Amino acid sequence: MEFDDIVVGAGSSGAVLAARLSEDARRKVLLVEAGPHYEDLQTMPKSLLNGRQMAWDHDWGYAAEMVPGRLAAYHRGKVTGGSSSVNACLALRGSPADYDEWAGLGNPDWTWRDVLPAFVRLEKDVDASGDHHGRSGPTPIRRCAEADLAPAQKLFLDACCYLGHPKVHDHNHPEATGVGPVPSNLGPNAVRFSSAMAYLHPAQERANLTIRADCLACRVLFDGTRAIGIEIEAEGRVQQILGQRVTLCAGAIGSPAILMRSGLGHSEELRAIGIEPRIHLPGVGRNLIDHACIRVKWNSPVGMVDVAAAHLQVLLTHTAPGSSVRNDMQAFLFQWPIQPSLWLQTSLMKPLSRGTIRLRSNRATDCPDIRLNLATDAEDVRRLSEGLRMLGKLVQSPQMKVLGADVCSFDDGQSMPAERFLALLRDDDWTAAQVVRAVTHYVHPVGTARMGPTHDPGAVVDQHGRLHGAIGLRVADASIMPTIPRANTHLTCLMIAERVAEWMRAEVT
Ligand SMILES: Cc1cc2nc3c(=O)[nH]c(=O)nc-3n(C[C@H](O)[C@H](O)[C@H](O)COP(=O)(O)OP(=O)(O)OC[C@H]3O[C@@H](n4cnc5c(N)ncnc54)[C@H](O)[C@@H]3O)c2cc1C
Repeated sequence: MEFDDIVVGAGSSGAVLAARLSEDARRKVLLVEAGPHYEDLQTMPKSLLNGRQMAWDHDWGYAAEMVPGRLAAYHRGKVTGGSSSVNACLALRGSPADYDEWAGLGNPDWTWRDVLPAFVRLEKDVDASGDHHGRSGPTPIRRCAEADLAPAQKLFLDACCYLGHPKVHDHNHPEATGVGPVPSNLGPNAVRFSSAMAYLHPAQERANLTIRADCLACRVLFDGTRAIGIEIEAEGRVQQILGQRVTLCAGAIGSPAILMRSGLGHSEELRAIGIEPRIHLPGVGRNLIDHACIRVKWNSPVGMVDVAAAHLQVLLTHTAPGSSVRNDMQAFLFQWPIQPSLWLQTSLMKPLSRGTIRLRSNRATDCPDIRLNLATDAEDVRRLSEGLRMLGKLVQSPQMKVLGADVCSFDDGQSMPAERFLALLRDDDWTAAQVVRAVTHYVHPVGTARMGPTHDPGAVVDQHGRLHGAIGLRVADASIMPTIPRANTHLTCLMIAERVAEWMRAEVT
């Protein structure tokens, strides 16, 4: 059977795209996903249902280099809903300037004005109002009332106010800055409302939608430069499936990997690993961006971590001193139920450092070589140093003293008494060096098949997701973001798919 549309990857973006395309009953849509599909809440594992804590099963098992020589686990969801099925459920849009920036980079259809209707359409915000919010979309969004915050989260909120940050009720208000409850995509009883739940469950009975789970897409099939289908591995067999249009939604690691295995990438690099190049697209796998973070962790005194509460309930957004980018920093207190422990995290939300993804071989089962190159830009180091100093102020605040941060540890494995950490923060050279030693990722890779006009040599797709130089092939997921928004990336991925689906439905095939 030939499909009208083949969508590869059922994550934040792919689930939306397949659901929206199959609303047109005349269109035969195939959604291919490497992980399993759970059709209802009864069969879904508890880890995926529990939106209070991240899930570590259903993972691709990737590792990425943070800085040269230091590897860390790089989680990606492998299940329908993709990373939205395992994530921390923070539901943020970022700033209007993030999208105006995309438009300014040669993608004029992506201004804030253009993207806002899709953000409104995708949500059902149960406790914020105004023209910029939706009341009837598939993704429920809610916030924890101040009276219901876990004790440690309330102390964090009070400490931020003590340090002079304004209170915010709605972090998704276009002007928001300061500290307040984090909007979360949670259903009743804190069920994680992934894109699988929000979009696929209501669509999965449609006669024109086929969901093939446990099915690994290896490469795109071509007739010349026209995409005609995909090659998959399923049930121990290699198979070919034909379709009029192929759209990759395999995420910022998976989509560039499929492109490269299909001969679409830097020609010389592909030849070196035995892949015959088809279209020279040097931007594939470049421009890898993630938010960069520094964490200060400690084992908390008994009773200070509410192990039943969400990992985090309160978020601070602020601007690094001396930065020209408003709201370029985020901070939160994270409750880790296992030891139990607490950590403070400062995150650089508009980093300038860029990384790469390359294939090690042409096998679809191999982990790509992922290098984030975090904090390689001097301005990133400076702003993260300011963020680390802010964490020092929080540790010393009278509100947070009771949380027992006596011995602090970092992601480079160092541990030291809090007194020593606070003293070292007065030394700018130590602080900058510590940022580079301990910087880590925020599980938000984007940008590896970025959109841009044809004359831009690093652009991989045009502003509607169509691959430069090919016919019938698109990318629509985190990969196409030219820059990273100052927000956790799930809602932006939903928004991207909502918009690309509109364009695809209007296209005559
Ligand atoms: C642990 C974790 C916590 C996070 N927390 C948050 C948060 O709190 N808030 C937030 O906004 N964002 C968060 N994120 C980031 C956010 O979830 C992602 O940015 C977003 O889900 C990415 O969407 P995507 O569609 O681009 O990719 P994904 O959602 O990762 O989807 C890609 C899909 O493609 C499938 N796939 C990949 N390769 C193939 C192949 N070859 N064949 C078939 N299928 C394939 C994958 O299995 C997956 O289902 C988190 C991510 C992780 C991993």
